[in-house]
Amino acid sequence: MNLVTRAEWRAKKPTSAYTRLSSTRGVKIHYTGGKVPADLAEPGNHDRCADLVRDIQRMHMSGGRGERYIDLGYTMVCCPHRATFMGRGPHALPAANGAGLNSRHYAVLALVGSSGFTRPNDDLLHALVDAIEYLREHGDAGREVKGHRDGYPTSCPGDPLYRWVRAGAERPAPLM
Ligand SMILES: [Zn+2]
Ligand SMILES: [Zn+2]
Repeated sequence: MNLVTRAEWRAKKPTSAYTRLSSTRGVKIHYTGGKVPADLAEPGNHDRCADLVRDIQRMHMSGGRGERYIDLGYTMVCCPHRATFMGRGPHALPAANGAGLNSRHYAVLALVGSSGFTRPNDDLLHALVDAIEYLREHGDAGREVKGHRDGYPTSCPGDPLYRWVRAGAERPAPLM
C-alpha cells in the first residue's frame, strides 16, 4: 500500500492522548461531502489531497464540528491516487461515526464530495481496501465494512460509495 505518514502530510500533533481501542467490529466508510474539485483525481493533483487532509484536520481541531477535537477525527484517509494517509491510526478511538458509535468501528474517509468529484475511481477503491486490510492486520478490526449512514442519520458516505460498501467493499476487477 502507499501509506502517507503523518510527518509526510505535515500533520499537527494531537493535543492530548488518544483513547485506546483494543479491537473493533470493523470499519465505517465516510466521504467529505461538500465540494471536492472535479479534477482532483488527475495525476498531477495529488498535492491537493494532502492540502485537503490538512484542511480537515485544521477544521476538526478548531471546533468546526462543534467541539475542538484533539486531532483529525478519522482513522485513515484515502485519495484517488491510491494513497492512504495516516489519521489517528490503529488502536485509537476515532471521532467521526457519531456519539456512542466510535468504539465499534474505525472511521476511514474517502476524498469524495457531494459535488465536483463524487464518484470514487478504481484507485480510490483500492486505497480503501488497503486501509481496511491494514486495520485488520494492525488494529484488530473485525470483518464488518459499513457506511456512516448505518446507524446514524446522514447522507455520508454518498450513494456511489455506499453502493460499493453494500456490494461487499471489494477491490475493483482488473481491466481485461
Ligand atoms: Zn461520515
Ligand atoms: Zn491523492
